[in-house]
Amino acid sequence: MRISSGRPGVPPPLIMEESREGRRAVDLPEPDVPEAELPGRMLRESNPDLPEVSELDVVRHYTRLSQTNTAIDTTFYPLGSCTMKYNPKVNEMAAAEPGFAQSPPLEPEEATQGSLELLYRLQGALCEIAGFDAVSLQPAAGAQGELAGVLMIRAYHEQRGDAGRTRMLIPDSAHGTNPASVAMAGFEAIQVPTDRAGNVDAKALREACDERTAGLMITNPNTLGLFEQQIQEVTRIVHEAGGLVYGDGANLNAILGIVRPGDFGVDVMHFNLHKTFSTPHGGGGPGAGPIGVAKHLTPFMPGPLVVAEGDPLPWENEGVSGADGDRLLDGNSTAAASSEAASRRVYRTAMPPRSIGRVKAFFGNFGMLVRAYTYIRRLGPVGLRSLAENAVLNANYLKALIGDVYPVKYNRPCMHEFVAVGNVVEGIQTMDVAKRLIDYGFHPPTVYFPLIVKEAMMIEPTESEGRETIEAFAETLRRIAREAREEPELLHGAPHVTPVSRLDEVSAARHPVLCYGG
Ligand SMILES: *Cc1c(COP(=O)(O)O)cnc(C)c1O
Repeated sequence: MRISSGRPGVPPPLIMEESREGRRAVDLPEPDVPEAELPGRMLRESNPDLPEVSELDVVRHYTRLSQTNTAIDTTFYPLGSCTMKYNPKVNEMAAAEPGFAQSPPLEPEEATQGSLELLYRLQGALCEIAGFDAVSLQPAAGAQGELAGVLMIRAYHEQRGDAGRTRMLIPDSAHGTNPASVAMAGFEAIQVPTDRAGNVDAKALREACDERTAGLMITNPNTLGLFEQQIQEVTRIVHEAGGLVYGDGANLNAILGIVRPGDFGVDVMHFNLHKTFSTPHGGGGPGAGPIGVAKHLTPFMPGPLVVAEGDPLPWENEGVSGADGDRLLDGNSTAAASSEAASRRVYRTAMPPRSIGRVKAFFGNFGMLVRAYTYIRRLGPVGLRSLAENAVLNANYLKALIGDVYPVKYNRPCMHEFVAVGNVVEGIQTMDVAKRLIDYGFHPPTVYFPLIVKEAMMIEPTESEGRETIEAFAETLRRIAREAREEPELLHGAPHVTPVSRLDEVSAARHPVLCYGG
């Protein structure tokens, strides 16, 4: 048996390799009732192929794997576009409250008033933060929010009998999920170029807009880490052509409390709670991608939404955000929010009249919603704004520390992230720099995205990190640039400290071997 703790070049054993015939992790007591035979058709023909290990083997195995992993709790994780910020433990405590964690999803509304109230308040807070009239918490990820939003745009045009709008405009800096969502919703994706300053090219946008335009999907701050300087002009051009504006809210972290997408002309936007509001992610989930909409799209939202008895429905009269959202984010109002009057309200669910339907069972990843709400309430309006300011400050500081060595193509003050290039000398590529960072204990930044910057290295330090970490990371990147010149083979062979070194990523994608020993 290999007993390895993931040493360099030695992959930790699979749990099947640790198996020894007859070894057990549990001892069942002798039965105190007569044994009975199971019906023959329910019997297996052979034993299941399970590892035979002791409890200590199991604990050591999974603890070792968890330590072989990279996580925000153990290291700096500057993965641009993903906002790998610290997940405060108070969020976990709130999500673990038995009333939330152990509430079965089929419980009737009378028995889950507390959970419904939390969802209602989260809807209100998100409306207020981003300037929308209503929020649906249904989608389970940003990408699912995109699909829901684009389907709503389609439903909106169809309902007005405006059937010729078949095209969705997308800047060439966009995340790959944008064109994918557009295609899934049955639209044609039309690419709009970026201008020299790193903004969407307004002239090209104007030329691309016509009576076939269903809308524009835009990320602001965009994936170059830059605020779209002409955003109001951009949304006006699209609206004048009869289209709607979808906002990709993945980068909301940078502008919280400073500017609201609903105010600069976005009609519908997803939030990535697992990015902006610090719910843990990575490894594929769980996530939460609520969507906020302006008044005219409320009838089409995915549902159900949580509403308070006696309030106007979001799709009637005024908005759903209204008083509650304002009260929630007024710094001194914690007492008011939990006042007796508030706790006497009755919450229920409601489906918008022309809803595109449900996009997730029950209330999505409910624990994520509890964490996000906890985070928002913990920080309050002043804290949310200062997190955005610190995220921007950290990114600009890091850019200043490394920009002379790793050039930044669109070089103006950035938001919460920036895009540098990693091919610092002939023969060295961004991938080599990224892999070498692992040897120094840092998670690499996002690489080769956005596609419009060759050899891109997209770095997002987040607001969670202190000055020492940022400086240590910058110092490491500068040292790697020196190594690239003096000992390039160190970079080509990196990482050197991991159980598995560099993989053949093309073969892994094209010819994946999914069975052990297969
Ligand atoms: C992360 C991201 C998405 C997709 O969000 P998921 O929650 O991962 O589905 C879309 N656009 C941008 C710009 C992103 O960074």
